[in-house]
Amino acid sequence: MGSPPVPIDIRQLDLDQITAALTDWGEKPFRARQIWQWLWQKGCRDFAGMTNLPLSLRDHLQERFMIRGIVEDKSQFSSDGTIKNRYTLHDGYKVESVLIPVPGEDRYTACVSCQVGCSLTCSFCATGQMKRVRNLDQGEIVDQVEMVNAQALERFGHPLTNIVFMGMGEPLLAYGPVMQSIERISAPDGLGFSPKRITLSTAGIAKMIRRLADDNPKVNLALSLHAADDLKRDSIMPINEQNNLESLMDALDYFYQVTRNRITYEYIAFDGFNDSLEDARNLARLTHRFPVRVNIIEYNPVEGVEMEKSPIDRLDAFAGELTRLGVTVTVRRSRGKDIDAACGQLANKD
Ligand code: SF4
Repeated sequence: MGSPPVPIDIRQLDLDQITAALTDWGEKPFRARQIWQWLWQKGCRDFAGMTNLPLSLRDHLQERFMIRGIVEDKSQFSSDGTIKNRYTLHDGYKVESVLIPVPGEDRYTACVSCQVGCSLTCSFCATGQMKRVRNLDQGEIVDQVEMVNAQALERFGHPLTNIVFMGMGEPLLAYGPVMQSIERISAPDGLGFSPKRITLSTAGIAKMIRRLADDNPKVNLALSLHAADDLKRDSIMPINEQNNLESLMDALDYFYQVTRNRITYEYIAFDGFNDSLEDARNLARLTHRFPVRVNIIEYNPVEGVEMEKSPIDRLDAFAGELTRLGVTVTVRRSRGKDIDAACGQLANKD
């Protein structure tokens, strides 16, 4: 006698595959859509809780499938309201996401992770010091969104207004699961969240930016630029060696021409490295081909990294020069610094 089949994670299947499985069992196809809604719209993580299904079907599902969700491990609370959450995955690895509330602007942003670790080794980033282990699957990404959304509702009485793929990992290197999760997050039979309020942040992989343009999931794109000339960018972001600024500008131009979706440059200001007036002029030169706005971000210290944050007067002068040159700029004071939840600080530390 053979052993019973190992249950597979039902959230790895698409609707057609679930329908086919149910048809094999002699169930009506509409049951598949009901299951789909439980999984992706109502966030149900337990077949027993799918109360509009017959008991026999729930039992059958329980025997053949499982639902592999993420489990809350711990949360840390910043004095500025930011909450960093750590989750345990089914194989024991951990990832983090952050809730960034800005009640004055009615903005509640979830920053989610898409990989365990990251392969890109940007020199200023805590995640980059961890080895990349694996991509998250779509369910693990959607779970983060659902859990942070529940947290926003519980703590602030407000649902999420924005989602950024800016946590651990490079979204364009976890392309399949990231696209699937965006589909589930934005679908009417998923979470129904507008893709216009989703931003994918990349360290810059030209051919994947073009692919994203062709697939056009209608999301916004942010490039972690951090240096406006190749020599400097090579020195802090090794990915720039195969994806230099010219190739990235061509790809972003293509993205804008195809999608007309918003492009942002993220620019962490490092003291004496990329915050001079000349750096501002170099950066301004990268803003003429397509509409773009620049987010200047305060740097947060990361253990083992020698770079320092730009002093406030240099940062103001840098931003002022950009404004003078007609660039749309915002300066983002970092949030969640006291709990290592700010940009570049996610590293599963206790
Ligand atoms: S900044 Fe982003 S792409 Fe670079 S190492 Fe960190 S997580 Fe990876």
